[in-house]
Amino acid sequence: MAHKKEKTFQFMIVGGGIAGVTCVEQLSSQIPSADIALITAGSHIKAVTNYKQVSKTLEEFDVEERPSSVLEARFPNLTVIHPAVKSLNTQSHTVETADGRVFGYEKLCICSGGRPKLLTQDNPYVLGIRDTDSAQAFQKQLSKAKRIVIVGNGGIALELVYEVEGCEVIWAVKDKAIGNTFFDAGAAQFLIPSLEADKPERAAPCRRPRYTTEEPAAGASQTFTADRNSRGRDSGHTESGSALGPDWHEGIVLRGAEQVSRRVSVEYECEVEKIFTAEDLHNSPQQTLRPENVGTWPVYILLTNGKTFGCDFVVSATGVVPNTEPFLHGNNFALADDAGLQVDDHMMTSEPDVYAAGDVCTACWEHSPLWQQMRLWTQARQMGWYAGRCMAAHVLSEPIELDFCFELFSHITKFFNYKVVLLGKFNAQGLGPNHELLVRCTKGQEYVKVVLSGGKMVGAVLIGETDLEETFENLMLNQMDLTQYGEELLNPNIDIEDYFD
Ligand code: FAD
Repeated sequence: MAHKKEKTFQFMIVGGGIAGVTCVEQLSSQIPSADIALITAGSHIKAVTNYKQVSKTLEEFDVEERPSSVLEARFPNLTVIHPAVKSLNTQSHTVETADGRVFGYEKLCICSGGRPKLLTQDNPYVLGIRDTDSAQAFQKQLSKAKRIVIVGNGGIALELVYEVEGCEVIWAVKDKAIGNTFFDAGAAQFLIPSLEADKPERAAPCRRPRYTTEEPAAGASQTFTADRNSRGRDSGHTESGSALGPDWHEGIVLRGAEQVSRRVSVEYECEVEKIFTAEDLHNSPQQTLRPENVGTWPVYILLTNGKTFGCDFVVSATGVVPNTEPFLHGNNFALADDAGLQVDDHMMTSEPDVYAAGDVCTACWEHSPLWQQMRLWTQARQMGWYAGRCMAAHVLSEPIELDFCFELFSHITKFFNYKVVLLGKFNAQGLGPNHELLVRCTKGQEYVKVVLSGGKMVGAVLIGETDLEETFENLMLNQMDLTQYGEELLNPNIDIEDYFD
């Protein structure tokens, strides 16, 4: 770094996402006199609003994008710096920004998030969705599309297949069931009929769709269609600048060029073998296409199940890669297997005075038996908040212990218009064969799955308005032996809340 250092800040936070902003808020409220810098790539920051603690560990909130000046107005000791960080020198405790300015720090927290793991780089027909700009680019391309292929089985793919209308969707998932990141095959079967039903009007109760227990064969496909009736939604209107928050797609009309409603075909247990253009196809006569694909699609995708689909574009929704790149060169960060910056139970990386929080980091402390890291809004907020507390505690020489929020994994969200609550080892993660499952399912209404290990409740998936989250959360936290209750635990005629009072 040849440039002269402009200023040294007591605390420097890189990244204006949920983790970074929450870290700034926490530090500013704990040490109001501290000199804090927030360096972020964009002119807008993400703010958590309408925060609600639903139970001991479950929380709900909205995410809004706001000009960074709003944050500076709130915290007089905060300086927001643009543009992005280009490099970091942990020895001299300095960062250089893309415009060549150099700033010093005493304590640094890297909250630079992640970027979509794209199937291929620099292919105009392969889109990833990460921020408002990429969501709007997706919306624009979708408005002209007749068929798209969505690759991936996580939360973004789940939301997209449900939300996209007026366009055929081929959904390629590598697992035996949809939503494998969040559910087992039973929950997937519960949700799948929603893909063939009309979407209910916003805030309306769910329709009861047809239920099928048929499992798709390996490598097979399933198709679901729903005719679009007049739905009273304004298909031409777009609220520009809406943030990617928990309901990121609500401000954006995800509508293709066709008049039909949803038409989703799922291709199970397959990955992408190759993506090629019509021209490539022309030059490789050995490539055979199914009759419905012959035509003039701009791009083609060959899946490992041997099927090729022509489409307008491919959405790559296969997860995120931590944004560590600008920080690694010349430094000695320990990286985890998923390429995140390793952090200990004080959110500290392996470099002195450097902390990290949110999607960019990997929690490498010894986890509580009921917690795991998932790159989600809630965890970005919790980590940013806890990193702020740790930084302050270290400066003030105060002791600090791992926060209670890392005791039990909990996530509340919505998939296919159903409320979904995930608790603990909800998919029996890491339990091996040493567990038992109890399931209660009412078609179109609720799906309840409990994971028991050694007679104790260690995880649960609650889909629908089950009202069981608090009781189950308590049973998990207090690790009560439930052996004597057996299947009665899920007996719908027993008010379980009273039972355990
Ligand atoms: P980010 O929000 O990614 O913020 C990173 C910040 O760092 C940005 O401001 C960026 O500009 C800045 N930055 C990056 N590099 C630099 C640099 N070199 N210098 C300076 N600044 C830099 N989670 C859920 O819980 N529920 C959901 O329903 C859900 N849906 C999602 C839908 C989509 C489309 C996407 C993309 C994600 C979704 N997620 C969801 C995941 C969630 O968005 C992330 O877990 C969360 O935003 C991570 O927050 P963060 O602060 O770590 O990172």
